[in-house]
Amino acid sequence: MPELPEVETVRAGLANSILGYSVQAVEILDARSLKRNAGGPKGFKKEILGAKFQQVIRRGKFFWFPISKERALVGHLGMSGQILVRKPADVEDKCTRVILELSRGRSSKQVRFIDQRLFGGLYFDDLVLTSDGKPAGFGPEGRVEPLIPSSASHIARDLLDPHFDPDAVVEKMLTRKTGIKNVLLDQNLMSGIGNIYADESLWLAKLHYNTPAELLSKKKALELIELATDVLRKAVAQGGTSFDEQYKNVNGESGYFAVSLNAYGQTDEPCPRCGTPIRREAWSNRGSHFCPRCQKLKI
Ligand SMILES: [Zn+2]
Repeated sequence: MPELPEVETVRAGLANSILGYSVQAVEILDARSLKRNAGGPKGFKKEILGAKFQQVIRRGKFFWFPISKERALVGHLGMSGQILVRKPADVEDKCTRVILELSRGRSSKQVRFIDQRLFGGLYFDDLVLTSDGKPAGFGPEGRVEPLIPSSASHIARDLLDPHFDPDAVVEKMLTRKTGIKNVLLDQNLMSGIGNIYADESLWLAKLHYNTPAELLSKKKALELIELATDVLRKAVAQGGTSFDEQYKNVNGESGYFAVSLNAYGQTDEPCPRCGTPIRREAWSNRGSHFCPRCQKLKI
């Protein structure tokens, strides 16, 4: 499942390759990928034809192209979504659901939305003012307005957002009685940390996933946020290579995670710090990976 670094790689790739392009035609191969679109495929077509992509902004795992002051084209990759930028003559990609034909001057490109499991989607949404009045998200190519798609407005700022406020978030974290991993994954508090990067951040901070958040010192909580931010930045840096090349051989699940992992998925492998085998425990319908020696549970 794509996490924030993979979504940021997609966002940055789109910013590099299709800004300045307009939509000339659209082919909808599976209308189930047009999520939340009140007008159905017809309404989507009507709204997207002629739309010009000038900016692509991201918050957490949502990304969007503002089309006017009021509306944006929003994308979410869900469990298995991919976006490929192709030449019109390129061979078909399996599980392509929507194709946008773009042009700028004499240059033509295709944006293909591919999704095996159909949890992701593209849709138009109203832009609303951000709750804090600050720019809506991450989009370093231009000035970001304080306008966010209504469907993403409940999502808290992510750790790569220039307006993410670690002190304010830590203050809220320290009031929570639940395990720290739960808190890291709470999209209403901070967005963009999924299972992989939560396990990695907790390993770096030497914290057990079930440590009640309220038991952390302010210093430790700030350190954890800093480590998590660092992990995400490194993952973005490793995933942020050439957009088309990056995804050419991706078959949906493999190829996403170029980042070197210390704990996640390393069950029975030696902890890179102390050599103790990494343990996986069932957690919240998923798993938690940790070093039983470096990350002891303190209650
Ligand atoms: Zn260890």
